[in-house]
Amino acid sequence: MKAVVCAPDAPEGTAVTDVPDPAPEPGEVVVEVNACGLCGSDVHAIEHGRTVEGQILGHEFGGHVVEVGPEARGWRVGQAVAVNPLGACGRCRACRKELPFRCTAAPNLGITAPGGYAEYVAVPADQLVAMPDGAPVEWGAHAEPLAVALRAVALAAVGPADSVLVYGVGAIGLNAIFALRAAGVESVVGAGRSPGRRHAAAAAGADIVLDTRAVSVREHVARTGRRFDAVLECSAAEGAVEESMDVLAPGGTCVVVALTSAAAKVPLGPLVGEGLGLVGSCAFRPIDFTAAVAHVTSGRLPVADLISERVGLQETPDALVRLRRPGDLVRVLTVPGADSRGPDPAG
Ligand SMILES: [Zn+2]
Ligand SMILES: [Zn+2]
Repeated sequence: MKAVVCAPDAPEGTAVTDVPDPAPEPGEVVVEVNACGLCGSDVHAIEHGRTVEGQILGHEFGGHVVEVGPEARGWRVGQAVAVNPLGACGRCRACRKELPFRCTAAPNLGITAPGGYAEYVAVPADQLVAMPDGAPVEWGAHAEPLAVALRAVALAAVGPADSVLVYGVGAIGLNAIFALRAAGVESVVGAGRSPGRRHAAAAAGADIVLDTRAVSVREHVARTGRRFDAVLECSAAEGAVEESMDVLAPGGTCVVVALTSAAAKVPLGPLVGEGLGLVGSCAFRPIDFTAAVAHVTSGRLPVADLISERVGLQETPDALVRLRRPGDLVRVLTVPGADSRGPDPAG
């Protein structure tokens, strides 16, 4: 089969090549990938050389079952599925702490096991979620980033009367806006720099979208007089955590979703005196993934509107390079079948 493999010495950091087709182990099925989202974490890993030669990345995917291995009961060839890339044994300390991405007893597809930038992937059957008949198969690729957002919103512990800031409106921030809408939050404010992404934030349901190049979040709060019950920090911008802590109402929580090695200065006076919370959110639990599939397939959240481009496997190495400076690009999908089908009919 064709796959995009990591090639740290290649100019683009990845290359399209032929690799052996996966064969299902007991308890696994083979999924033909319909679409896989190109994730910023993969883009950064490739850009900074944190990949292994021959590794197949890609963890936001779905497709059809094409082969059912022994002991993989309950699945049939042709079934449309969304793939939860995070295996979880359910018994280890990491799993009990609801941190399945730290579980070492199960595969993490696209990280520790081959992922979705390929025609086929072997997937443990317990990491599949069935897509309902009639739902576009491509929607399976939307569940993973929405699951990340649902986990972050759960950690923010917000409800209908609350006001929440989504700081940074890239793919995860935009999914967070959907997740907050789904949670019935009264007021959702987005903040971002790129005009295209801010437009997408308004379309996703943000009540107000701040252009942080023109007005800071602090200035906005000083003007309106309303602090936030929670901030979802999805920007990794310098100073964003400090600013987020400054604009929280007493008892509010800052959920840091953007994965960054940068240090932040946290004001401890308000942290203690106003009972603020500061928590990191990484990945999601199995229940978040199942909930994400339900939200996506209900059709209530227009997650498909976030797609900026669909590319074939052949164009994927170039797209992964372009996403290093995304500008207005929000989400790019690799669609392995597009190589043989020709250009994207949707334009
Ligand atoms: Zn991702
Ligand atoms: Zn575990």
